[in-house]
Amino acid sequence: MKMQKIYSWGNNFYKDVELNSDLSENYGIYLGNQNSYGDCFIPYSHFSYKSKRKEKLFCEPDLDPSVTIEEYIYGNNKLLFGIPGKANVTIGGAVAADTHGKDNIWGGSFSKNIHSLKLKLANGQVIECSDKKNREVFTATLGGYGLTGVIEKVTIKENKIPLPPSFLKQKQKGSGLENLFNEFEESPYTYWVAWVNLLNKRFDWVVEKSFSGKKDIKSKKSSDSYIKKLNLPFIGSNSLNSMSYINNIYFNLNSTTKAKSSSINKTLYPLSMISDTRNISPKRKILQIQFSLPLKNEKYIQELIERLIYKQVPLLCSIKRLGSPLYTESLSFYQDGWTVAVDFSEKYFDLSYFEEFMKKLLDHEGKIYLAKDSLLNEKYFKAMYPNFKNWEQVVKKLDPNSKFQSHMSNRLGLKQW
Ligand SMILES: Cc1cc2nc3c(=O)[nH]c(=O)nc-3n(C[C@H](O)[C@H](O)[C@H](O)COP(=O)(O)OP(=O)(O)OC[C@H]3O[C@@H](n4cnc5c(N)ncnc54)[C@H](O)[C@@H]3O)c2cc1C
Repeated sequence: MKMQKIYSWGNNFYKDVELNSDLSENYGIYLGNQNSYGDCFIPYSHFSYKSKRKEKLFCEPDLDPSVTIEEYIYGNNKLLFGIPGKANVTIGGAVAADTHGKDNIWGGSFSKNIHSLKLKLANGQVIECSDKKNREVFTATLGGYGLTGVIEKVTIKENKIPLPPSFLKQKQKGSGLENLFNEFEESPYTYWVAWVNLLNKRFDWVVEKSFSGKKDIKSKKSSDSYIKKLNLPFIGSNSLNSMSYINNIYFNLNSTTKAKSSSINKTLYPLSMISDTRNISPKRKILQIQFSLPLKNEKYIQELIERLIYKQVPLLCSIKRLGSPLYTESLSFYQDGWTVAVDFSEKYFDLSYFEEFMKKLLDHEGKIYLAKDSLLNEKYFKAMYPNFKNWEQVVKKLDPNSKFQSHMSNRLGLKQW
């Protein structure tokens, strides 16, 4: 059988797998476009499922889950809720991780787009599920990381999000997290994200706010080859303060400006040569730790970040506002509050301080985003996701022999029955 090496985005996990579209004999997990930083798509066995792409991929209502977010947007001239920051994330991968975007409170997580799903179960049966039909299966699958079955079809709800010919992007800069949170203002159809310099005690930040523009700007097609590779691993160690200089230069170059035109792709998927932190990490290995915290605990975010970066070299930090979740029954980390994502070079990340951070995160009802995770353990996961017990009851009935098992589900003890 032909084997293929698959790597997590952070390059911390890899495995030789046999790609198969036939579920009958094999135990494994479905493979999207491998944009998850950790091991949620790495199979526990040596089998990855992947169906062959079919013709007429973008035709609604029955959408093939291998369609990418970018293909969907340009194929249908429509935007979606919860668009993640990478254009080639598949619709299936976005459903399975219940992704979020820069659409803050007016938007929502990816689940908000979904009318119904066709799911192939472990016993080979294909069922339809929605808010009205097989609801338990539906909500366990939105943010279920492929552990309930294979999503074979996705039906998207109608929405009224305008798709402009371009965006107008306005930058605002400042210092201190309290000021940053006060700067946030809810505004319909505005996309908001903040970049924070954690190597500077002032916590300097740059906010990018984007709203509909009139100018017709063609987006360049996003692809990983467009985001060229650099090889500057010494920066990731902050050797000679190189990382601090880069952060300061970025902050100083970004003055608070009037809005400037920006293409849709540059607004939605800002990954560039510089912000691809694998380029500045030895062996291109990075860890990203992303957590959400409820709004009522906003005042603890600074303390939490300080704990997380204690004696570490943080590379890049982004902060976004999250809105209220539509469903709370799955393994989605989406909750009404804030999310903070911090990248580290794997080589320089000191694990001995991580547990202290996890304890504090738990105290303040924080949740780690599993699509980005490589470090969580079973004990903290189960304390962090109190709804897990209900999810487990539903999934146990769907997959009694744990046919769908990823490295992550095994690491976190998600299917121990
Ligand atoms: C640069 C970058 C920026 C990102 N920005 C964001 C962001 O802003 N917001 C955000 O939420 N996420 C973000 N992500 C994470 C990304 O959106 C998620 O990891 C997403 O799940 C990746 O989708 P994928 O198609 O690559 O699937 P994979 O990473 O291959 O798989 C992800 C999960 O989906 C499951 N899966 C995929 N297809 C199916 C299917 N048909 N049936 C059942 N299960 C399936 C897999 O088993 C796995 O558990 C980012 C990632 C990168 C690399």
